[in-house]
Amino acid sequence: MQKRLDGHAAGTRRVRVVTGGVLLVLLAVLLVACTTVPLTGRSQLMLISEETAIAASEPAYFQLLSEPAAEGRLDNDAALRARVEHISGRIIAQAIRLRPETADWKWSIHVIDEPETINAWAMAGGRMAIYSGLIHKLEPTDDELAQVLGHEVAHALARHSAEQMSVALATNVAINVWAVRDHPSTGSLAGVSLAAALAIQLPNSRGAESEADRIGIELAARAGYDPAAAVTLWQKMSTAAKSGVPAFLSTHPSHNTRIEELRALVPTMRPLYEAASAPPVYEFPPAASGLPGVAGATGATRKSDYR
Ligand SMILES: [Zn+2]
Repeated sequence: MQKRLDGHAAGTRRVRVVTGGVLLVLLAVLLVACTTVPLTGRSQLMLISEETAIAASEPAYFQLLSEPAAEGRLDNDAALRARVEHISGRIIAQAIRLRPETADWKWSIHVIDEPETINAWAMAGGRMAIYSGLIHKLEPTDDELAQVLGHEVAHALARHSAEQMSVALATNVAINVWAVRDHPSTGSLAGVSLAAALAIQLPNSRGAESEADRIGIELAARAGYDPAAAVTLWQKMSTAAKSGVPAFLSTHPSHNTRIEELRALVPTMRPLYEAASAPPVYEFPPAASGLPGVAGATGATRKSDYR
């Protein structure tokens, strides 16, 4: 390397030092950002901590549920709500056994009445929703519904939701365009919370999908739900897709081998299912089972409470 000590060279060196410093910082960020999935060891990109993702998801969750609540479309079918809550409760109890620190999460599940929407989602920290269309169009058995809910709990448990927020944050400009142009209802959200609202509408990666399938079928089996139902659920999902792509498949991209992979897991899961006598049920805290300002399951119209 040629050494020149004139002012220009010194300036260049300064630039190099600064550039080197920036690279070091970037490297440090990447090292921090690359973590591994708690249950499978897959490496994942995390631009924010799980704690930040959970905190930012709370306002996003209430914002997204405020509209159906105001319109009386949230938890308005008491029997369906009770069914979803019971199955989720059994699965969450198993999730807490796998990751005990998640006992401190504000796990919650709400049913959004949208008869044409086949979808469900989970935010960081276990804040979930399922659409009535999934029930009415797929007519799942309890064992099959447990596979959907197990899959969603698995997304939260394996930090996929926070991973999706990292993807959303990495495209900050896209977030703002998306929010302003297509989703004015997210207007009061900003920054990381806006990313939380967007994250549930981004497709998961194939790796995350396989992980959620694998963890979800195990959670359901340990909770006493027949693992064979994972196969029949996805068969129903695939039949529904032929009459128009259901929303669930746009955010949970399927792949040709999914059903075969699940079928191959059934024999391994069956002993867990058979051993699950009197599985425990997670009790949702009162604040989680009813939105603030929403009286019970009636979906009272008090929109201003969370705007
Ligand atoms: Zn998924």
